[in-house]
Amino acid sequence: MKFPPFAYAAPTTVDEALAILAGEDDARPLAGGQSLLPIMALRLAAPSLLVDLNAIPALRETVISEDRMRIGAMVTHATNAASFDIWIHLPLMSQALHHVAHQAVRNRGTFGGSLAHADAGAEMPLILAALGGDVILRSLGGERAVPAADFFHGHYATAIEAGEILVAADLPFSPLTWAFEELARRSGDLAISMAAVGVGLEDNICHEARIWLGSIADRPLRAEAAEDYLRGRSLDDGVMREAARLATADVHPRSDGHAHADYRRAVTSALVRRALARIAAGDM
Ligand code: FAD
Repeated sequence: MKFPPFAYAAPTTVDEALAILAGEDDARPLAGGQSLLPIMALRLAAPSLLVDLNAIPALRETVISEDRMRIGAMVTHATNAASFDIWIHLPLMSQALHHVAHQAVRNRGTFGGSLAHADAGAEMPLILAALGGDVILRSLGGERAVPAADFFHGHYATAIEAGEILVAADLPFSPLTWAFEELARRSGDLAISMAAVGVGLEDNICHEARIWLGSIADRPLRAEAAEDYLRGRSLDDGVMREAARLATADVHPRSDGHAHADYRRAVTSALVRRALARIAAGDM
């Protein structure tokens, strides 16, 4: 299908982009276009104006400080996947990036676009939630930081308000050992289920655990009962099985054309167990 007609602007600063957005009710930012353009071609969206963010160098900046990394919204998945800094400081993100789409999509698709689009089957929203990051939103009125827990409101729904641009995300470094596991129908497809599991081990006893699940619900979900269960226990086979069972025990998984709720529950538990087993074996 052909695109519906739209006007186009390519500002070179964030302030200019914000001013253009504010001047048109039905304007949408355009990042990599890997989600927005197919949606427009299918006529599921028909914005009157596309505000292309690709010519704004400030949105491609990544800043590393002592304990966190601020990644610009327009940094592509391909750049992040190849980043040595992300591999060193945010290894969970590095693992997950290799599951995002195919190289051609990763070359254009952006970190910020993925967060703003908030597809339940996308990896980057889960990573932001698991690491406890903040999304940085800017409007003509100023800048605000929104914690991941408050940012995702559901499938394709976020805290971004009209006239706001997602300029970056701020990710704290984690002392835990992380493993990312995913099941997708084919390599590069959006996930049927994902698990991001972080464990702090001392003498093989778990003193801290973080378990986040993706694609099982309409937004990233924390498995607190499984985390509580793991604290103070050693990662033996029985403990890993029970933690994996607890991770989905109170969840009401979504059903869709890709997977039934019962299948999603079984697969998600298996992914949590697999991630724990990798951490126990030091297979990162
Ligand atoms: P766009 O498509 O340009 O924009 C998406 C939405 O976000 C639009 O509503 C736009 O207005 C808004 N937006 C974009 N940037 C901003 C901003 N800075 N501030 C405010 N709003 C903004 N993704 C995965 O995570 N995992 C996958 O496995 C996966 N597989 C894919 C396979 C295919 C074949 C394709 C085509 C895409 C796939 N994707 C996948 C999606 C891909 O990762 C996209 O890059 C991502 O969803 C959107 O990023 P984008 O930069 O292309 O954003």
